[in-house]
Amino acid sequence: MIDTTHIMGIGMTSQRTRDRLKQRLQDQGITNMTVLDTIARMPRHLFVDEALASRAYEDSALPIGHGQTISQPYIVARMTEAVLRDGVPEKVLEVGTGSGYQAAILARLVKTVYTVERIEALHERARKVFRKLEMRNVYPKLSDGTWGWESKGPFDAIVVTAAPEEVPEPLFEQLADGGRLVIPVGGQYGAQYLRLYTRHSDEFEEEVIDQVKFVPLVSG
Ligand code: SAH
Repeated sequence: MIDTTHIMGIGMTSQRTRDRLKQRLQDQGITNMTVLDTIARMPRHLFVDEALASRAYEDSALPIGHGQTISQPYIVARMTEAVLRDGVPEKVLEVGTGSGYQAAILARLVKTVYTVERIEALHERARKVFRKLEMRNVYPKLSDGTWGWESKGPFDAIVVTAAPEEVPEPLFEQLADGGRLVIPVGGQYGAQYLRLYTRHSDEFEEEVIDQVKFVPLVSG
C-alpha cells in the first residue's frame, strides 16, 4: 500500500494554517463569509518570494521587492468587504497590482477585474501568478493608475492599494453611478485613513473606514 500520510500531512497543515488566518480575521471583525472563505482558499504563498512563503498566512504585510509590500490580509478583507457591502460589483478596477493578491481575491468574487501597476517587474510577476492560477477574468496593465483606466470604465468599484495625498479626479470620474471607491488617503508621515466613497450621480458620499498604512501612490 502506498503511504500518503506524508503528502496529506503537508496539505492538511497548510489548510489548517489558512483556516487559522480566517479565524483571526473573523475575530478582528470581518463578517462577510464569502470574503473570509475566498481568503482561506487563496494560496497567498504564491504571491510572495519562496523565502517568505512560510510567513504567507500570517496577518501581516510582507515585502515583495522594489520597496513595495503585499497588503495585510485584514486590510484586503476590509477593502473587499467594503466594496461588496450592498451587492456584488461586476467590473472592478484595482490601482496598485503589486503582488496581485488583492486582484486575485477580487477576481474570485466579481465578474471582471482590471488592475494597473507602474513597476514593470511587479506587473510581470503578478501576470505569471494569474496565469498559474488560471484566472481568466483579471486583466493586468503596466501604467500609472492615477489616471485610472478610462477605456474600460465606468467601474462598479475601484480599489486603490497605494495612498495619494488627495483622491485623483479621474478615479471619481470613472466610477459608475452607485459605484464604490475604496482608497487610503494621506501622507507617508501623518495618518492615513481608508475612505469609502459611494457615487450618487454627481455626489460622492464619504465614509472613513479605518486608519491604515499604505505605500505612496506615485504619479508619473
Ligand atoms: N494590491 C497589492 C498591494 C501592493 S502595494 C497587493 O495585493 O499585493 C501598492 C502597489 O501600488 C505597489 O506595487 C506600487 O508600485 C503600486 N503603485 C504606486 N503608485 C502607483 C501608480 N500611480 N499607478 C499604479 N501602481 C502604483
